[in-house]
Amino acid sequence: MSARSKNQKRGRVFLVGAGPGAPDLITMRGADVLGRADVVIYDHLVSPELIRLAPPKARLIYAGKSGGAEKKGIEQSELNAMLIEQARKGRVVIRLKGGDPFIFGRGGEEAEALARADVRFEVIPGVTSAIAAPAFAGVPLTHREHGSFVAFVTGHEDESKVSGSTVPWDELVAAARGGRGTIVILMATARMGATLERIRAAGLAGETPAAAVQWATTAAQKTVSATLATLAEASARAGIGAPAVIVVGQCAGLREHLKWAERMPLFGRTVVVTRSRETASEFAASLRRLGAEVVEFPTIETVAPRSYAALDRAIARLRAPAGKSFDWIIFTSAMGVESFVERLKSRGRDIRELGRASIAAIGPATAARLADYGLHAAAVPDEYRAEQIIPAIGIKRVAGKRFLIPRAEVAREALPEILRDKGAKEVEVVPAYRTVKPKGAPIERMSELIAAGSIDLVTFTSSSTVTNFCELVGAPASLLKAAAIGPITAATAEDHGFEVVVTPAKYTIAALTEAIREYFAPANGEIT
Ligand code: SAH
Repeated sequence: MSARSKNQKRGRVFLVGAGPGAPDLITMRGADVLGRADVVIYDHLVSPELIRLAPPKARLIYAGKSGGAEKKGIEQSELNAMLIEQARKGRVVIRLKGGDPFIFGRGGEEAEALARADVRFEVIPGVTSAIAAPAFAGVPLTHREHGSFVAFVTGHEDESKVSGSTVPWDELVAAARGGRGTIVILMATARMGATLERIRAAGLAGETPAAAVQWATTAAQKTVSATLATLAEASARAGIGAPAVIVVGQCAGLREHLKWAERMPLFGRTVVVTRSRETASEFAASLRRLGAEVVEFPTIETVAPRSYAALDRAIARLRAPAGKSFDWIIFTSAMGVESFVERLKSRGRDIRELGRASIAAIGPATAARLADYGLHAAAVPDEYRAEQIIPAIGIKRVAGKRFLIPRAEVAREALPEILRDKGAKEVEVVPAYRTVKPKGAPIERMSELIAAGSIDLVTFTSSSTVTNFCELVGAPASLLKAAAIGPITAATAEDHGFEVVVTPAKYTIAALTEAIREYFAPANGEIT
């Protein structure tokens, strides 16, 4: 097969629904293809957190906002041409669109252009804001007693213009009257008053419940409940602007009992996670489960040590006869475990070679990573008082013993000195990995969020996350509140000017998460 036809075979466009805003509302299939993208063309309303799912080498193109933009967008015809051109070059093109690609937002037109050009395409549906905004406001769109159909309507078309509106308002309202249906209006804010008035004129009672939901599923979510007659004014008073969805119908009245999102402990809060990308996801997910919007801003990245020589020598010694080999291997971080075991594997060695030594771990995350490899060690806190650490990790005798500590190239644990003081025969500290500041951090976005006052809390899980954050963003610390995993990290954050408002009693991610929950929702006893 010629290179050209092979390219044409691979090249295709995926029209992918990104969901309404919260990044974890994309579908699994959408996330999968995004991870295989060569090119991502994304819209204004797509969560920046999602763009990270694309491979680092993927080309990212901002297509702007359809229908007028603050940041200038690309013309639709130009965009269609770009999709076709990129696919013909053999690229996997992800056209990432807010909500669902086929609900407004011109996905249909893009698909038509692709079909005409004979370019292969697939459509991956998304959670449309038409469904997500009511869901997050506690408004069921259908209900056996209050609505047996739902209509998604554009509020953008202007009947007074020559082109007129193609929305059959009279028929729609006739069908919905008497609580028989729910009307959901997208692109609703610019002409909200006129649209709601039009619905009234068509015969829907002014006291029909209605709600406007702005920035649904994000920390900025704001909902106004009113009636058909009063919603426009109430929304104006509350400062509701785009993007917002309006729901009109008896179902909208159920919100009073069903508003669940606002009750989540971290609803409306934006929390920054600064730990490395590899370790962030669990922490980020636990904050999201509590209702927070999480901005992942990794400030450290783990890379290979400058030299593996010392680590390789240590690994080679594992096979040495007793007395020459190590009595103990002490791991001080999950990354230390991973780097060590992966290096062992990559040298064609066997994990059973660790069998001669006893294994100790500092920190539950370290013990958990050992457990992932089927190695058991007692779990102890991350930060500790120097004198207690040796018995705490299960070491009874230090004198005369040989210790191996595979850890970060630059580390500040006092452990080696303590062991030497206590008469260890040998303490071999070997660099297993190195942490660096990541390249390509979304600094501009972070600066914008900080300047806009959108960040409620920055979380730090080590001193280097604090220093790197300040180096990357340019020390805006005085504007920010911080949560620190333990006293050492807290002290570093305070030194850098942060107001540290959360420090858990136990120095674990679980305890940090819980302390953040308590900080924002003191004893509110609501659903968690
Ligand atoms: N394809 C998109 C809609 C594109 S039109 C979808 O399926 O959701 C853009 C309109 O979507 C906005 O004017 C607004 O009415 C709505 N919208 C998108 N995201 C929203 C959000 N997070 N909250 C409320 N409305 C939203």
